[in-house]
Amino acid sequence: MNAPILVTGGAGYIGSHTVRLLAAQGRPIVVLDNLVYGHAQAIIDPQVELVVGDVGDSGLVRSLFAQHRFGAVVHFAAYAYVGESVTNPLKYYRNNTAEPLELLLAMQEFGCQVFVFSSTCATYGVPDTLPITESNSQCPISPYGRSKLMLEWVLADCGHAWGLRSACLRYFNASGCSADGLIGEDHDPETHLIPRVLMAATGAIDHLEVFGTDYPTPDGTCIRDYIHVEDLADAHARALDHLAAGGASVSCNLGTGVGVSVKEIISAAEAITGQPVPVHYGPRRAGDPAMLVADPALAMRLLGWQAVRKDIREMIHPAWLWMHGPAHGRYPKKNPQ
Ligand code: UDP
Repeated sequence: MNAPILVTGGAGYIGSHTVRLLAAQGRPIVVLDNLVYGHAQAIIDPQVELVVGDVGDSGLVRSLFAQHRFGAVVHFAAYAYVGESVTNPLKYYRNNTAEPLELLLAMQEFGCQVFVFSSTCATYGVPDTLPITESNSQCPISPYGRSKLMLEWVLADCGHAWGLRSACLRYFNASGCSADGLIGEDHDPETHLIPRVLMAATGAIDHLEVFGTDYPTPDGTCIRDYIHVEDLADAHARALDHLAAGGASVSCNLGTGVGVSVKEIISAAEAITGQPVPVHYGPRRAGDPAMLVADPALAMRLLGWQAVRKDIREMIHPAWLWMHGPAHGRYPKKNPQ
């Protein structure tokens, strides 16, 4: 029960919030992160060991299993720029699909049978019905989505073949940050809506470009389901408990069930920051479905999980404090290749 947990990508945005929660719950954690996008400073608990390296480095991964005899793996390490996955698909298939196979081989060799996987609503593609349930068809429209879906299939096959039990957690739009502002979202480049809106509010970028105003939504802009990163972290803890107690493999949507448009985010950010957000209305961004909203009921039924924060202001406010409050600049700048 108290065997250490290996968290790959634990220095990244969602990973670091999850590591913080798991460590606070007294679970021994080892983080494996190559720090290409992650930040060593995002691991704030001194009990947590950070190993800098790649998930695909079989020698390293096997030596970590031999040393720690992990009871479970929580796997975040992945690239997540959808546009880049279209222009450089092999980078995504290698990192998101192929390299984790080394992890799974080590798990099989060392008899570790619990895997919590950071999957995505991008595995659904353009939804056939809304809200999206786990029985919607999974037809991803980007190499990123396909690279994640393929790993879901691998996990299912390992389940049949050697008893791996996995939780595929399909995140909707992760947002917000820790309430105390000690860790937060810091992507370089930053492409996500909420940080960009806040950057535009402070003049860090000239303006926000809104990608499309002619969608079939009430205000013409895209609707997404923004889920607080600490609610996501909580779902990982519950998935670990479910699997550790002998529970069967699960695949669950993690969202609030509430849809928010781009224009609604801009208005909420203007109210929170007290600053106008300069906006340019541009064309649609390729590959953006009009509306992505989760039906999170299955996660409630199987894991007892639901989002605690459902109001978009609860995501934007901490993100604003993180970007422009006392913690600003906590992570040094880096330029990933
Ligand atoms: N978006 C936008 N301008 C930006 C970034 C995002 O209009 O600079 C829109 C995007 O088209 C989508 C929503 O905001 O409808 C959320 O985009 P984000 O990249 O944050 O997450 P995604 O839904 O692509 O995973």
